[in-house]
Amino acid sequence: MSDEIFRKPFTQQEPLPEAAIARAVEVMRHGRLHRYNTLPGEHGEVADLEVEFADFTGARFALAVASGGYALACALRAIELKHGEKVLTNAFTLAPVPGAIASVGGVPVLVEVTEDLVIDLDDLEAKADQARVLMLSHMRGHICDMDRLMAIAGRHGLTVIEDCAHTMGAAWKGTPSGRHGLIGCYSTQTYKHMNSGEGGLIVSDDPMLMARAILLSGSYMLYPRHRAAPANGYFEHLKYDTPNVSGRMDNLRAAILRPQLADLPAQIARWNVLYRRMEAGLADLERLQLVARPEAESFVGSSFQFRLPGFSAAMVVDFITRCLARGVELKWFGAREPMGFTSRHESWRYVPEADLPRAGAVLDTLVDMRLPLSFDPEDISLISRIIRAELLKTPVI
Ligand SMILES: *Cc1c(COP(=O)(O)O)cnc(C)c1O
Repeated sequence: MSDEIFRKPFTQQEPLPEAAIARAVEVMRHGRLHRYNTLPGEHGEVADLEVEFADFTGARFALAVASGGYALACALRAIELKHGEKVLTNAFTLAPVPGAIASVGGVPVLVEVTEDLVIDLDDLEAKADQARVLMLSHMRGHICDMDRLMAIAGRHGLTVIEDCAHTMGAAWKGTPSGRHGLIGCYSTQTYKHMNSGEGGLIVSDDPMLMARAILLSGSYMLYPRHRAAPANGYFEHLKYDTPNVSGRMDNLRAAILRPQLADLPAQIARWNVLYRRMEAGLADLERLQLVARPEAESFVGSSFQFRLPGFSAAMVVDFITRCLARGVELKWFGAREPMGFTSRHESWRYVPEADLPRAGAVLDTLVDMRLPLSFDPEDISLISRIIRAELLKTPVI
């Protein structure tokens, strides 16, 4: 029997829902793409999206912006991070996180990662007195023990900004991701949980902070047109002192996102069917370590990770190459050269060097794959059969 081959691309999204296409066409027909370009009595798609996203997360306020990276930097500006100030963040995250910190003159201080791919809370506790801010990245959708994290933050006076690029729609003990810290930041870039090409969202309950974020995002003194925003009085205190750092969302992208937000719970259920099937397909392989998913975590299984402890770099590369030859595209966090969306902390050379032995060891054997919704459960079974077969072919040394 010849080897099975998987033939779908790992980077293909589903088409946008027809409702999103119809709404986008409507916006293009009337031409009012700028969020503040509204007729009397009209809210605009962006302002309506903000109301709906605030409802979705249970936050008092929401702001839509140009990208997830912009949301993170805007949050740091809104808490008035000073130039040269240190910001604690995960060593295992995506480049836009340390990038956002650097973009506002902050200095990332990297915190270790555990084998379950979450921030190492012992290392966080040890480093907590070095900074007043933690930018917590729920990288690849893995949520740490948020009760313990918030207790550490409380003891050390840390302000927590959550990077929820991979946890939009996830929760810890029923509290939505992004709602534990002071601010939650989300991305609507194509490879996240809603797709507007580029885009970001910020939520918080803090009125002063959100007034500052709205002014920062480039509101041209049109903040009264926001709907998920603090009362106008908050802006009066801030409007002369807050710089305009334009990074607004436009009505076209918001029009595309609103129907997707309505569909998100159903999409999450579909992702998790794929995730659990992959997990079952790769269970009981002695040399492959799955990532534990705690009871308290409601996750969104939009990507899948496993580790190959005991594998040398050459063995991992050989295994990934054989999988790729059969159409299964795996990413490796052990590569020293940053490639595509995968990079590791050593390649962010603008970040002060840190000794991170645990992160090094975890990333060296960490394999990652996307689970796009263009895959169906049968696809997942085929992918897991291929991974199994190629793993069993890897010689034991
Ligand atoms: C995608 C991503 C972001 C934000 O990315 P943008 O491309 O700027 O929207 C932030 N953090 C993580 C972990 C991400 O994967």
